[in-house]
Amino acid sequence: MLDDGKEPAYLLFICDIVSFKLINERYGPETGDMILKKFARGLKEIAGSSGTYGRFEADHFALCLPEKQASPDDVVRLINEKCVNTEMDFHFQPQFGICRIEDRSIPVQTLCDYASSALASIKGKYNSVYAWYDARLRKKIMDDQFLMEEVEKGIENHEFVFYLQPVYQASTKRLVSAEALVRWQHPARGLIFPGDFIPLMEKNGFVPKLDYYIWEAVCAYLAGRQKEKKRMVPVSVNMSRMDIHNPKLVDSIVSLVRKYGIDPEYIRFEVTESAYSEDANLLLDTIKALRREGFRVLMDDFGSGYSSLNVLKDMPVDILKIDREMVGNMEISDRGGCILGSVIRLARRLSINTIAEGVETQSQFEYLRGIGCDSIQGYFFSKPIPVAAFNGLLDTEDELKGKGSVLDSIDSQAPVRKGFLNILVVDDSSINRTILANMLQSDFNIMEADNGRKALEIMREPENRIALVLLDIVMPVMNGYDVLEEARNDPDLRQMPIVVLTGAETSENEIMALEYGATDYLKKPYNPSIMKIKIANIIKQSEMLKKQA
Ligand code: C2E
Ligand code: CA
Ligand code: CA
Repeated sequence: MLDDGKEPAYLLFICDIVSFKLINERYGPETGDMILKKFARGLKEIAGSSGTYGRFEADHFALCLPEKQASPDDVVRLINEKCVNTEMDFHFQPQFGICRIEDRSIPVQTLCDYASSALASIKGKYNSVYAWYDARLRKKIMDDQFLMEEVEKGIENHEFVFYLQPVYQASTKRLVSAEALVRWQHPARGLIFPGDFIPLMEKNGFVPKLDYYIWEAVCAYLAGRQKEKKRMVPVSVNMSRMDIHNPKLVDSIVSLVRKYGIDPEYIRFEVTESAYSEDANLLLDTIKALRREGFRVLMDDFGSGYSSLNVLKDMPVDILKIDREMVGNMEISDRGGCILGSVIRLARRLSINTIAEGVETQSQFEYLRGIGCDSIQGYFFSKPIPVAAFNGLLDTEDELKGKGSVLDSIDSQAPVRKGFLNILVVDDSSINRTILANMLQSDFNIMEADNGRKALEIMREPENRIALVLLDIVMPVMNGYDVLEEARNDPDLRQMPIVVLTGAETSENEIMALEYGATDYLKKPYNPSIMKIKIANIIKQSEMLKKQA
């Protein structure tokens, strides 16, 4: 800055140590005190004779310097040198809000507020070290204030709605649950996302009211589906850190589901990992109370903050939601993948289900499925969508999978239509193919394929008019599950009856195959009569479904 004869400008730094509370918890208050003292000594040195410094409370400090003495980058560097480096094996990160002081008539308290609001603007953004209080921030603060004045009216006018983001089971790609995410349909500003108003509402204490409003809206939605006897999946709702301070929280939730006649199984609560570092005991009590009432509890944003695997050990949650940052990291580094893998394994051992959030690509999806992650949420499958669109998804998935199970209505008296139905036998072993062909050729035309690729080609050729596929699971190159998966993702093959052939003692393969969309299974050793009747019934069922469609 040019020195134009005016009094020199000063810089005011307000400083906060990220997650200082965790340092206290992990290393004890003596270590915390030691760090604070060292911090203060460092600030004193940096302030020198022409600056000043002080401590507000806890880990909040202020430092004021002539602008000419040091740039913000210098100050950050000096603080890191003098205050942060300790002989201990951990590193902590201070963050700063900075305000440039030109007008000496502004009260000190106001200047501190300015710098604090700059600091608040980077809270939670762990890679930002400092932020300025400037015209842009001032405008944002004014806009935010204006927005907050409209919240109450917004609730009254039902401007807050929730979107639903589907969650899919990794093994079957079936829609199994959803998360309700709030949106503000503002009459003047259009659709506003929660990132732009939830943090503000957290500050002015309005979040619990909004949360309750959304929970009630979700109950009303579920009650509507229930009344129409439509398919429902559990919906998880977000619970803010502030909610757990309400001593009547669980009572009010229980009254809500009673009022709407909803089974608690259909509402799940997502508590955020950050609540753990703030008040672990209160969080634990809330989780226990909710589960006692039959609600499932999810640990949201797992892996986003500073908490460790201890959270898993300490908090009896049903489902772990892996933060999208962790999902993003797994592909960037082997280390990221390793950590994710061990989190999922540990969760399994503790009988906690896992949902990976923010899954955007096919390769992320496949990787996660491969390491045993149970469910997937993310743009790869779907963004959060309006309720009507979500209902559409639920209803059409129902139709695709067939109304009820084909197996529900086996008719053992079904006549076998001779001669013109084609059955494809897929097995890499020619002996097995021959055995099956021999058993069935009096009643069907048998076609054969010795691998999955060839099988799919034959199935896709309309001329072949395949009525049913008998599919071996264990094959080299492309196994039976892969064939099933590809077939079920192909609109032309989605309805084709596929019966898997299994031989093992356990039913694991059968269950897997059914999850992958197999119509039914046949177990070795085959009984030719039962086999023929089963095949005939399945074909008959499938023809009926085709006619209905
Ligand atoms: P969250 O609970 O972690 O919700 C997931 C966020 O990730 C959602 O953002 C969602 O749209 C986004 N997301 C989902 N899949 C992907 C993906 O594949 N890629 C990327 N980049 N993002 C993805 P949204 O809806 O903007 O919500 C942001 C946050 O606002 C939520 O984070 C949650 O903390 C909060 N929130 C939303 N609704 C409520 C509510 O009713 N009450 C409270 N207290 N907080 C809420
Ligand atoms: Ca959430
Ligand atoms: Ca989350």
